[in-house]
Amino acid sequence: SVAEAGLYTASDQIVLLTQENVKSVLINSTAAMVVEFYASWCGHCIAFSPTYKELASDIKEWKPAVDLAAIDCADQENTALCKSYKVEGYPTIKFFHAYSKPDYEGLPFGDVSRNVQDLRHKILDNLETHGEPWPPACPPLEPTSQMEVDVFFETNDVKHLALIFEDATSYVGREVTLDLLQFEGIAVRRVLNTEESLVTTLGVTEFPSCYLYYPGGNFTRLRVDIEARTFYSYALQRLPGVVRSGKPPPVSTELLKNNTEDPWRPFDKFRVYMADLESTLHYSLRVELGTQSVFQGQALTSLKAYISVLAKYFPGRPIVTNLLKDLNSWLQKQTGDRISYEAFKEKLENDAQSPNSTLPDGVRWVGCQGSEPHFRRYPCGVWTLFHVLTVQANSKGSDPQEVLRAMRSYVHNFFGCRECAAHFENMAAESLEEVDSLPTAVLWLWSRHNVVNNRLAGALSEDPQFPKIQWPPPDMCSACHAVKVNREHMWNQTEVLKFLLTYFSSDRILTDYLE
Ligand code: FAD
Repeated sequence: SVAEAGLYTASDQIVLLTQENVKSVLINSTAAMVVEFYASWCGHCIAFSPTYKELASDIKEWKPAVDLAAIDCADQENTALCKSYKVEGYPTIKFFHAYSKPDYEGLPFGDVSRNVQDLRHKILDNLETHGEPWPPACPPLEPTSQMEVDVFFETNDVKHLALIFEDATSYVGREVTLDLLQFEGIAVRRVLNTEESLVTTLGVTEFPSCYLYYPGGNFTRLRVDIEARTFYSYALQRLPGVVRSGKPPPVSTELLKNNTEDPWRPFDKFRVYMADLESTLHYSLRVELGTQSVFQGQALTSLKAYISVLAKYFPGRPIVTNLLKDLNSWLQKQTGDRISYEAFKEKLENDAQSPNSTLPDGVRWVGCQGSEPHFRRYPCGVWTLFHVLTVQANSKGSDPQEVLRAMRSYVHNFFGCRECAAHFENMAAESLEEVDSLPTAVLWLWSRHNVVNNRLAGALSEDPQFPKIQWPPPDMCSACHAVKVNREHMWNQTEVLKFLLTYFSSDRILTDYLE
């Protein structure tokens, strides 16, 4: 298809513009649009595409105000369109204000920087000078004043007003304003360090810094580890009374119990539960694999690799690991070119009847419980299982890619969510081969999981009680977060690795709720 031949896919959060959809997407859009005109054969475009993808995930929350699109001008169907926008070189990036007309050619960005921060700042410059009509979803970006703040709560129905104090050259205030755009219960405004009366009233001495301001003039400083965009946005999105638009407010887990047929099992959000891992194995071996009638070719190889990593690394109770080891030695001995699911199942259930080997029948979700039956559960278990396995392999394995390859082919061949499988396969094809050490494998899975979290934040499949975040958040691992010289967020990977190795380690897995 057209989309697959180009440099981007639908999962990049970039609108794929074509001759056909240009009218519905670009013309009269309620959001401003940034469009990259590229040619799929052009080296510069290929080199630029990771930056553009990174930008798209970086400003995903800004979509209702400003959205990113790309068009492959090398596709013959689009040549006329690119020509009509007077595009001569690739890549060219142009800014289109909201409600632009068919004859509007867009405002060129000039030199295309390969730096996400530069590009983001350029978008903000363009957005701020956006004329009328202003994109309706875009909050005001200009600095606020004492006068405006004084009457703020008379005209705005929000619980919190966050004020970001900064100097005129800083973009943080505007960035955080847009990062909070899809959240209700809060408004964000920037205040310049030259706004003397607010600066004096609040006693502000650090720029940037963030204060929460309340009716009647009460205020309090927002506590963050580092005074930078990501830290402000994360903390503000999680304030009491702040909810993603269209999602119900979080309630205490006590009140969740009536929404599912199971009794709610209280759990510690910061721990891994063996009950989830065993439930995942049950569902995977008895239900998901049960949708196959025979395993042959790639599917058989995949099944063998999966059961083999489970037998080697699953840090379970002896009764469960006995079963996995037994199942594995049986499976590896099968030399035929096909195995029926019936034969596999018979071996599994026979083993499960012996006194010292079993796999509990049925699921009992704990850390993977969802607030509704259609949230979390099995996919949550699959992620957890493979994180645990990469961490086990880190101390017991030797082949850096062994667990990831098993996961890749399991997901590719058997994972019931086919869309998930396609996305995961794309990511694996892109970078799994580069994994060259056991710790890198742990980090690879962590970082890919965060890519998925970013894509799914705010999606329908997100459990409102368990929002998708870049994980682990600062309140779980402060040392994992840092900033670069340019104040952009950066993971401290050494600390992240340390954290993962502890978090998913076998001796920390809780055994509550096991049969
Ligand atoms: P999950 O994302 O399932 O995470 C489970 C737990 O892991 C979290 O509660 C947290 O404790 C921990 N965790 C979170 N992030 C990380 C991290 N970066 N590193 C380590 N641990 C972490 N759904 C779709 O709608 N579209 C998709 O394309 C899609 N692709 C998927 C691909 C795979 C391979 C899998 C296993 C699932 C996929 N899903 C997809 C499902 C989705 O990712 C979630 O699993 C599901 O929505 C349940 O979310 P959750 O809140 O339980 O958290």
